[in-house]
Amino acid sequence: MTSMTNNVRTEERTDLGIQLAFGSTSRPVAEFRHRVRGLVEDHVSPLVSTCERDRRFPREAVAALGAAGLFHERWSGGIHGDLGRSVILSEEMGRAGLGGIGIGVGLHLEAATSLLRGFGTSAYAEEVLGRALDGESVCCVATSEQHVGSDLSAVETRLTREGDHWRVRGDKWFVSPGAAADHALVLCRGSGGPAIVLVPRTGLTPVERWATTGMRSLETVRLRVDARVTDDAVLVEPGSGLAAVGQGLMYERLALAAQVLGALDLASVLALTHLKRRKQFGTPLYRHQALRLRVADLRSRILVARRGLYATVAEISAGGRASASDAAALKVTVAQLGEKVTSECAHIFGGRGYVEGQTPLERLWRDFKVGRLGGGSDEMMWELVAAGFRPDHALYEKWIAT
Ligand SMILES: Cc1cc2nc3c(=O)[nH]c(=O)nc-3n(C[C@H](O)[C@H](O)[C@H](O)COP(=O)(O)OP(=O)(O)OC[C@H]3O[C@@H](n4cnc5c(N)ncnc54)[C@H](O)[C@@H]3O)c2cc1C
Repeated sequence: MTSMTNNVRTEERTDLGIQLAFGSTSRPVAEFRHRVRGLVEDHVSPLVSTCERDRRFPREAVAALGAAGLFHERWSGGIHGDLGRSVILSEEMGRAGLGGIGIGVGLHLEAATSLLRGFGTSAYAEEVLGRALDGESVCCVATSEQHVGSDLSAVETRLTREGDHWRVRGDKWFVSPGAAADHALVLCRGSGGPAIVLVPRTGLTPVERWATTGMRSLETVRLRVDARVTDDAVLVEPGSGLAAVGQGLMYERLALAAQVLGALDLASVLALTHLKRRKQFGTPLYRHQALRLRVADLRSRILVARRGLYATVAEISAGGRASASDAAALKVTVAQLGEKVTSECAHIFGGRGYVEGQTPLERLWRDFKVGRLGGGSDEMMWELVAAGFRPDHALYEKWIAT
């Protein structure tokens, strides 16, 4: 079977999550990667510098990638869609140095779309899902509040019954890309506990655009929510909201790890090439063992982390358990690696690495600092890993003098 996606002829669809297990150079993987790379280069990369300068998230990035059929392809297939396509799309956005734009596309495609696809049973939710996959509607997820960050169970945004409608009211603190979004999936508190409600733009008012250190094109805003919606918009009933958010976050964390690893590929290759080209003390920097081995050490960690990501995605795609703790372990490890590698690679460029516009390194460093918070902080990830890590008392008694 072949299919046409906006004039792009695609091979019989294969699950690229499983293909990743056999190596990133398998033919379907290489073809999909090539297609994504071209689309990102032609339609999204040219937007980066003005969007970073203006602190604006470009809706046109979502529109272009959606119109090319990539979002439908990512979410076609089984319960997780095609996770391999998610990873490749994220890696390529990272490798192209998209930063905030890439993260915004990921929040739309992974966190928001997974919730719509997994829980949206009404005709209204299905229509929004279709438009999100077409790239015609930008979606975001609004969970955090001024006093609610890591502990989402304390959510204060209210969901109350008013006649035959629901009223959703509250103040969401960090929402990305909040000003550009047509719909927000809002975590709120109903009488039975946390719920998720689909709120259209008419009920969303950006009240402050945050001057974030990095990810400037992600356009993170404080969002006032005040909407009257029908039953159709209640995506997840009161009481089940936190578990649902956790599922959406699992996809976001895998995509975030993939995007950071793509960016680290860019950073490490630039650093290595600089070592070969820049001379000091009459010889290329590469000849200085301290620098050469430092880059080799960083590169080794990137390669191992990427293999870990591919293996996890392959296991989930093959029908293995979708483990929240595996995704958390990947995300926290890669996010920390991201901060270290971007800093070290900027260092290798000397003074130029610290000057805007001279290299992309200073921006990558600023951008991926927030990888340790977005999608849940380091400590929250380690809590998930700890919860899935079981002691072995028989092993202990065999080896440890008691
Ligand atoms: C650029 C940006 C974009 C964002 N986009 C969105 C978005 O689109 N949607 C959204 O809903 N949110 C978004 N956020 C919010 C983000 O998810 C939160 O910042 C993050 O979850 C941490 O919450 P907090 O900032 O309130 O920190 P807090 O929860 O107050 O935590 C502060 C520090 O204490 C640590 N900590 C907290 N509790 C514990 C504990 N029990 N044990 C150990 N350490 C702990 C944390 O790890 C952190 O280091 C965004 C944030 C930023 C900066």
